[in-house]
Amino acid sequence: MRIFDPHIHMTSRTTDDYEAMYAAGVRAVVEPAFWLGQPRTSPASFIDYFDALLGWEPFRAAQHGIVHHCTIALNPKEANDPRCTPVLAELPRYLVKDQVVAVGEIGYDSMTPAEDHAMEVQLQLAADHGLPALVHTPHRDKLEGLRRTIDVVRGSALGTGRALLDHLNESTVKEAKDSGAWLGFSVYPDTKMDEERMVAVLKEYGPDKVLVNSAADWGKSDPLKTRKVGEAMLAAGFGEDDVDLVLWRNPVAFYSLSGRLRLEAAATGATHEGNSILRGAPKTVPAGV
Ligand SMILES: [Zn+2]
Repeated sequence: MRIFDPHIHMTSRTTDDYEAMYAAGVRAVVEPAFWLGQPRTSPASFIDYFDALLGWEPFRAAQHGIVHHCTIALNPKEANDPRCTPVLAELPRYLVKDQVVAVGEIGYDSMTPAEDHAMEVQLQLAADHGLPALVHTPHRDKLEGLRRTIDVVRGSALGTGRALLDHLNESTVKEAKDSGAWLGFSVYPDTKMDEERMVAVLKEYGPDKVLVNSAADWGKSDPLKTRKVGEAMLAAGFGEDDVDLVLWRNPVAFYSLSGRLRLEAAATGATHEGNSILRGAPKTVPAGV
């Protein structure tokens, strides 16, 4: 089973996770820019973070045989913080970089005027840079939030056909599908979508334009949820081709809208700017053993 996790925050995961993901079949990931779990205090904090998403993290992923791309944006939560919004002016120089395959995560958190502004600016930036957009839908007031999101994306220069609406569930999937957008589902332990609910959605709405992600981060989450959905699909009678469509070909098709997706594992050296993932000198086998 080949797996592309289209939404996972590897910066907050361990090397053990990378090893387990590779063993489970994960060969490619996209890491969307998001918040840190606590507020940033200046645009400079975003700059270092974006640089890590473009430098250190793809290097770390490559050491484990996984291709890493990212999406860049001011996230919905921090769109409300005037200490953070000046980063909008810094985005254009990141959106031209080869490894950036979408603008994201953008979208609504509390549906404030500040979020409206950030959404409008960033949808226009996506259109201007020929990039699709990863659009987070709110966890509260889901259906109302989805409708507002669809209206705004539809009214933008980007349009729904180049948007991935993420964090969908049973209450929002129908209207999201009718909008012509790509459909993202985050499968978490304990809360929100789980494997069985995901399989039920796939049975009802089919696998076209459906992407499944773990959205794993520093909270309670599981970077192997993509694999677990694939297994639940097979157990429920889906064929291997449907699993491959959802876990590989759909994410490839969506991020290929950027024209920048490169899936061959990049040959990397053992170090990134002089730093390695090893601690101390590598173990060597004594001569004659
Ligand atoms: Zn996320």
